[in-house]
Amino acid sequence: MKKLLILGAGTAGTIMANKLSAELDKREWQITLVDKDETHHYQPGYLFIPFNIYTREDVVKPKRDFFPSGVDIIMSSIELIQPENNKVKLTNGQVLSYDILVLATGSSTRPEETEGLMNGAWRKNIFDFYTLDGAVALHNFLKYWQGGKLVINIVEMPIKCPVAPLEFSFLADWWFTEQGIRDKVDIEYVTPLPGAFTKPRAAQMLGDFLEKKNIKLVSEFAVARVDTTNNKLVSWDKREVPYDLLVTVPTNMGADIIANSGMGDDLNFVPTDPHTLQSKKHHNIFVIGDATDLPSSKAGSVAHFQADVLFENILRYIDDRQLAPHFDGHANCFIESGFGKGLLIDFNYDVEPLPGKYPLPGIGPFSLLQETKMNHWGKMMFRWVYWNLLLKGSELPIEAQMAMAGKRL
Ligand SMILES: Cc1cc2nc3c(=O)[nH]c(=O)nc-3n(C[C@H](O)[C@H](O)[C@H](O)COP(=O)(O)OP(=O)(O)OC[C@H]3O[C@@H](n4cnc5c(N)ncnc54)[C@H](O)[C@@H]3O)c2cc1C
Repeated sequence: MKKLLILGAGTAGTIMANKLSAELDKREWQITLVDKDETHHYQPGYLFIPFNIYTREDVVKPKRDFFPSGVDIIMSSIELIQPENNKVKLTNGQVLSYDILVLATGSSTRPEETEGLMNGAWRKNIFDFYTLDGAVALHNFLKYWQGGKLVINIVEMPIKCPVAPLEFSFLADWWFTEQGIRDKVDIEYVTPLPGAFTKPRAAQMLGDFLEKKNIKLVSEFAVARVDTTNNKLVSWDKREVPYDLLVTVPTNMGADIIANSGMGDDLNFVPTDPHTLQSKKHHNIFVIGDATDLPSSKAGSVAHFQADVLFENILRYIDDRQLAPHFDGHANCFIESGFGKGLLIDFNYDVEPLPGKYPLPGIGPFSLLQETKMNHWGKMMFRWVYWNLLLKGSELPIEAQMAMAGKRL
């Protein structure tokens, strides 16, 4: 038996296990999936918890509900990867060998990387919504908050779902309006980027949205430390932003085992071929999802597009064929903009988000770079699509590669 080992059973690892187990001959290939947690989190749902739209129960399901039969499941932390020996050590004492390794260990937030962030104020007037516990704690705080200055801050890029902090800001504007206290809340969006987003046209449009919603944009602000005695953010160039309530998106990093195994960059992301998804160092290791060092967005939609390409390339690798350079950085993200509306962006490594219709050219039903109710429903429907189709590796009517049809230059 040959062995295919998948490390991480989150979005990307689960999709890959489903796709590969449906295709590989079980008499020849043993597929093993390793993860430390029994529960799968629908992370895009964290955004809605502070605003009482979703609860904890809406975003958590048992991981095992999504695993295909015939795959060996091991619930254990991974301790060390030894790529030179094709072996992986687990904390439960097992040592696994592999012929092909898929790294899908994701990324997580590291508030401890920023001086002051985890001081006594953490979860008192400093919150995050990139973890389930953080989102729930923030909801409990917002229920009783009477107003003041709310600062939403991205500590540094890259972060997963780069539009989520903008969505949080738009939803905060809506939520405080609903609570009748919008006039008592100043909202400030503080980002290390030169504008509201990375790509020029979307940055312009989303910047205009912030202005329209009376949310102040502070750009190119690289946080050096958080002064919790005086409630202010301090940048490396000595600028200060005071806050009453700080909602932070802390530094995002890849898994510690990537660093411990000497396989990552400064942020523990794995150097990966941007088009084939093969590890740059080891020919029998492939990387998918947030774990890669790629400049594509770290998003579930991207993991899904990558999975189509990686599936093809693992079959090619097994058949001793040249890998197909088919991943183009394709990402699409709904952007919840509050008051029952949303936007949609669709882009890749080379093409920035453009206006138009999606997925059917000229028809939609979704509109690109335009605020519509239908886009909001698309965002809300994504949870059903995620649990019922995406994780199971089902075919979706969307190509892995970005299409220009339906877009206006
Ligand atoms: C607030 C928020 C909003 C988001 N919104 C969207 C959105 O609207 N649309 C979208 O497409 N994406 C969104 N995302 C991003 C999306 O959730 C992630 O990009 C996606 O889940 C990445 O999948 P992954 O498989 O790479 O990582 P994950 O799903 O995080 O899986 C990684 C897995 O590896 C396991 N693991 C890690 N280290 C170890 C170890 N040492 N031992 C054992 N197991 C280990 C973990 O337990 C985990 O199960 C959002 C994320 C957040 C936080």
